[in-house]
Amino acid sequence: MGCGTSKVLPEPPTDVQLDLVKKVEPYIGHQNDVYKHFIKEDAVKAGSPSPPRHTYPYSSGHPPNYAEQPEPRKNKVAKYRAKFDPRVTAKYDIKALIGRGSFSRVVRVEHKATKQPFAIKMIETKYREGREVCESELCVLRRVRHTNIIQLIEVFETQERVYMVMELATGGELFDRIIAKGSFTERDATRVLQMVLDGVKYLHTLGITHRDLKPENLLYYHPGTDSKIMITDFGLASARKKGDDCLMKTTCGTPEYIAPEILVRKPYTNSVDMWALGVISYILLSGTMPFEDDNRTRLYRQILKGKYSYSGEPWPSVSNLAKDFIDRLLTVDPGDRMTALQALKHPWVVSMAASSSMKNLHRSISQNLLKRASSRCQSTKSAQSTRSSRSTKSTKSRRGRERELRELNLRYQQQCNG
Ligand code: ADP
Ligand code: MG
Repeated sequence: MGCGTSKVLPEPPTDVQLDLVKKVEPYIGHQNDVYKHFIKEDAVKAGSPSPPRHTYPYSSGHPPNYAEQPEPRKNKVAKYRAKFDPRVTAKYDIKALIGRGSFSRVVRVEHKATKQPFAIKMIETKYREGREVCESELCVLRRVRHTNIIQLIEVFETQERVYMVMELATGGELFDRIIAKGSFTERDATRVLQMVLDGVKYLHTLGITHRDLKPENLLYYHPGTDSKIMITDFGLASARKKGDDCLMKTTCGTPEYIAPEILVRKPYTNSVDMWALGVISYILLSGTMPFEDDNRTRLYRQILKGKYSYSGEPWPSVSNLAKDFIDRLLTVDPGDRMTALQALKHPWVVSMAASSSMKNLHRSISQNLLKRASSRCQSTKSAQSTRSSRSTKSTKSRRGRERELRELNLRYQQQCNG
């Protein structure tokens, strides 16, 4: 959420610092990059899971034509294409860059023979962190098959990179959808959470803890209103091996979503995912973060105390049952926190918020989301302008953020006016 996020990656064994932080540069170009025509019947190869088959009643026009794309975009695609192993490009056409993280680039591709669309996540494995993230991700993705989890199709490995061919989610990230949707009720929130909880329950049953659940890693499968949500990004996930106890020790996650027991370096369990779901639920219903501070020490202090409030819009319009749901997830003692199964059985979820009003919370939520993103961009911008040395990379990301800021301000103004 916001202008940029940072992850705390698993620490190396000898390093006890909590601040091994990697900046994740926001990629915003894909927000307008909506692909509307992906209806192909054949599976890519016998035995591989079926790729997305969408019937898009709303589709109009044609899929973006690479030949018609503007020059800079073409160059960008050409640049990424050059990074692909010939075995990959022999089979897949690289179409567009749709996401990027600390060690990865995600591109939309098309299978040459079947014309089916996929995503390829390319991870640089030259560096230790990249290798570790990649190993975790592959170890988990190879084991899972669930309707709310992105499916791995096949993997190509070279000495420096790993290419994971995955199902393509074309519906965008959770919050982009909320902002664009025009209405959002508690019932909508329970629908989203039910799908995420189903996926998380499945993972936990397999002994897998995601450890980086956050809105950016929840993608809509397609742009239609009935789209399912899919959990992605298993780079920090931990899979329990046979005979292991279920306790983990590694300090990792994204600061605003990290559970208190991780911060105090207690051995922890998969209930850290449930804490993160509490944070996501809070954001989903308000567009604000339960724990937020630019200063990381103060942020961690807030989390350790488990102190958050329901003041400000739209909280007075939110039902007590919804607040009870959040409270039972944002519980400092992991032993008292709901499990995924318990959360699925919580009356607010079971009744699909039947007792609460169908009040449209959208205006407040989207305005809070946009306001927050906009102010975060402003502070990043002023912090950056005080730096004396600027690399090409940081100049590029600053430009990206400035463009995002302009877009956000415009959207915020439009929300205010309409
Ligand atoms: P990282 O570990 O670097 O955060 P992610 O797996 O989260 O990498 O991918 C980065 C971004 O790429 C995501 O936030 C999302 O926008 C996009 N992305 C990743 N996987 C897919 C996919 N299968 N389909 C569509 N977009 C994807
Ligand atoms: Mg991610």
